[in-house]
Amino acid sequence: MDYKVIIVGAGPAGIFSALTLADLGIKPILLLELGKDLSERKRRNSTDMLCGWGGAGAYSDGKLTLSSEVGGLLGEYMEPDSLNQILQTSDEIWVDHGAPEEIFGEASPKLEDLSDRARLANLTLIPSRIRHIGTENCQVVLDRLRQSMVDRVDTRTSSPVESLLAENGHIQGVKLESGETFTSQFVVAAPGRSGASWMKKQAEFLGLKTQASPVDIGVRVELPAAVLKEITDIIYESKLIYYSKTFDEKVRTFCMNPYGEVVIEKTKQVVTVNGHSHTYKSSDNTNFAILVSSAFTEPFDDPIGYGLYIARLANLLGNGPIVQRLGDLLAGRRSTPERINRCLTRPTLPEATPGDLSFVYPYRHLQSIIEMLRALEKIAPGVYSRHTLLYGVEVKFYSNRIELSPELETGVENLFAIGDGAGITRGLIQASASGILSARAIARRLKDGSS
Ligand SMILES: Cc1cc2nc3c(=O)[nH]c(=O)nc-3n(C[C@H](O)[C@H](O)[C@H](O)COP(=O)(O)OP(=O)(O)OC[C@H]3O[C@@H](n4cnc5c(N)ncnc54)[C@H](O)[C@@H]3O)c2cc1C
Repeated sequence: MDYKVIIVGAGPAGIFSALTLADLGIKPILLLELGKDLSERKRRNSTDMLCGWGGAGAYSDGKLTLSSEVGGLLGEYMEPDSLNQILQTSDEIWVDHGAPEEIFGEASPKLEDLSDRARLANLTLIPSRIRHIGTENCQVVLDRLRQSMVDRVDTRTSSPVESLLAENGHIQGVKLESGETFTSQFVVAAPGRSGASWMKKQAEFLGLKTQASPVDIGVRVELPAAVLKEITDIIYESKLIYYSKTFDEKVRTFCMNPYGEVVIEKTKQVVTVNGHSHTYKSSDNTNFAILVSSAFTEPFDDPIGYGLYIARLANLLGNGPIVQRLGDLLAGRRSTPERINRCLTRPTLPEATPGDLSFVYPYRHLQSIIEMLRALEKIAPGVYSRHTLLYGVEVKFYSNRIELSPELETGVENLFAIGDGAGITRGLIQASASGILSARAIARRLKDGSS
């Protein structure tokens, strides 16, 4: 065997798997990444944005959500106590490598009061403690993680893995696009969301059981930071859930960025919106997403295709993302540059085209979003103002979920699948925790010779 363990993908899941294996004395380890090394990545390059050493974590907002209820499905694989322990270990590693000590959203009478007020408005507040690394600090923290494993893990960037090699239901190693092959006792697949279609192909080829994940479609809301100040001062990122009156479907807030900015997210297929906030630079606005989950059964079972279709519609009409004042949407007219100029909320994404989002979203999505905004108005007066800006489309795709054991091993012996690419996590903390979980299982087997 060339290696004891090969890890595919150097995002948080793959990095934490490699680091934990190295800390447990396992060697040799090979970490393969299709994108560039961390220092060579450029944010403006759409491939570099998600791929390269650090994965999607490199330009993420760096919010470490410390609640076990959000950020992934690891709770379905382990008992609550074990889950909390592994999330804590994962958090400690981030802090050891430079994540800030400060935590937002600790339990307090103010938080309890906010939770009560939310309940009266038919909203559920999911309390979550958050550590905020901030976009520009993510690179610094990731670089420290990189340095701490530099002599212990062989790393190859710009090395896309073409396929996973297995024989008789047992993993053998990997083949790179360059044609090189490496053999190993264990393989950990951690390709992230950007590697979803690669993972799907491997799963089909290896006969792994998978399940389609829902797609989340919605808008990015932007308003003066003062409107949400009381809430963001207490909890920084409030995760609120609402069941819409008309469709009785789950609508939620996601990724709240106090004093942040709305940004464009470009993939090869579509241009969508997202948001982030800087550690040292702030705007006058707060932004957050309102998302509606859609799952399909038969005859159509392609939620990713559905989400792309809606995003493409916005791109077709707006030549990119569209922005609209809530007042214009409710009055049934498009926003124009003149109307946006008169808007009291100054857009932080001036590139978005003023337009009409009602041409883009299906009725059920738009209705649910409007009902959610109305409910939010009850706990934060000003949200349902005609000057609130809505940007579309925000869409979250999740990889197909791979059937895994509690140790995150697939149906192919000694092949583990972790992180967002396995469809089991959706954020930095759970992705890195899945890396630790897989590494511990592998180290245990290697040490007691049970592999
Ligand atoms: C704009 C943005 C902001 C975000 N903000 C936050 C936040 O504030 N808080 C939070 O918790 N989460 C956030 N996230 C989500 C978070 O970044 C991901 O959940 C996390 O990075 C997932 O880690 P991962 O290792 O599973 O996958 P990734 O980080 O996606 O890493 C996977 C890596 O595998 C590589 N790869 C794929 N296929 C192959 C192949 N065939 N061969 C070799 N390498 C391959 C990819 O190039 C990539 O580098 C954000 C995401 C984005 C896009």
